[in-house]
Amino acid sequence: MKKRRFVAYIAIICVLCTFLSLFSVSASAASVLKPSASGISASFPTSVKNNASLTVSVTLSASCVADSITVQVGKVQKTVSGKAIAVLTKPIRQNAKIVFSGWTFEPSTYSVTVLVKNSVGSVSKKVGNIKVISGFSNPLKAISGGKTNIITQSFSANAYDSKRDHLGTDYSGAASYVTAIINGTVIDIYTGNGYGYGNAVIIRSTIYGKTVYIIYGHMKDNSLKIKKGDCVVSGQVLGTMWSSGNSTGKHVHVGVFTGAYKTGGKTVPAGYYSKTFSNSAYKVSYGTFTYFDPQRLITSAGTILKG
Ligand SMILES: [Zn+2]
Repeated sequence: MKKRRFVAYIAIICVLCTFLSLFSVSASAASVLKPSASGISASFPTSVKNNASLTVSVTLSASCVADSITVQVGKVQKTVSGKAIAVLTKPIRQNAKIVFSGWTFEPSTYSVTVLVKNSVGSVSKKVGNIKVISGFSNPLKAISGGKTNIITQSFSANAYDSKRDHLGTDYSGAASYVTAIINGTVIDIYTGNGYGYGNAVIIRSTIYGKTVYIIYGHMKDNSLKIKKGDCVVSGQVLGTMWSSGNSTGKHVHVGVFTGAYKTGGKTVPAGYYSKTFSNSAYKVSYGTFTYFDPQRLITSAGTILKG
């Protein structure tokens, strides 16, 4: 008698299990609906620097199932799809973090749109705007107040001896640190007279797809905070503003150039140059290098390097 009752219980349990599993399968299948705009939300910062990455986090409501989620910022699209996001749980919920990184965007305001697709259909929804701002910093940071980043000599013709042109921008101010104007890698360090640049650092960056070298000159002996091979970020302290090398007062000479730079002093960019150019020019070629106006590089957020 006991045995028969036990078998009956087992049978009932089996029937229930089968019923429940069938029910859950049909419930899952039935819950895939055409995605609706109301089921989509997204979060992202109101502004982002164009040398940093932008992460857009997309959240779908319980009833919204996606096979792929695309985020479009301006005209640039990024998609995540496949099983990584197709995790069906109860409630059915799908989230995605989509990352846009470095130098894709010029400073401007862009619309952000999310496109959700599944086997039944698709929908897109504008989720807001993002402001992309310049990732450039000024090259000086005050140690304790004081005015900084005063341009004492611009990128200009006839700046020295009324004959030689100045192939960089000189900045000065109250006792200040020299800071990187943009992210990059330290590829060379000059010490002592440093070919006239004194204690100087050369940092390689990529801006709008171009390899660019930026030299920061005339820093204080033993003040450098970085070494060859270091990655630096915009605003990071490189050393102390000083007057080492060929210099008559405390300042930082910032020079921006493209071309066949060879480390270890095999090729050294000139700080000035004997052939005059127009004061309205933002670039000039000399020898193996093309020099760009550092201040206009900063104020244009790098766009003078485009094309
Ligand atoms: Zn200079």
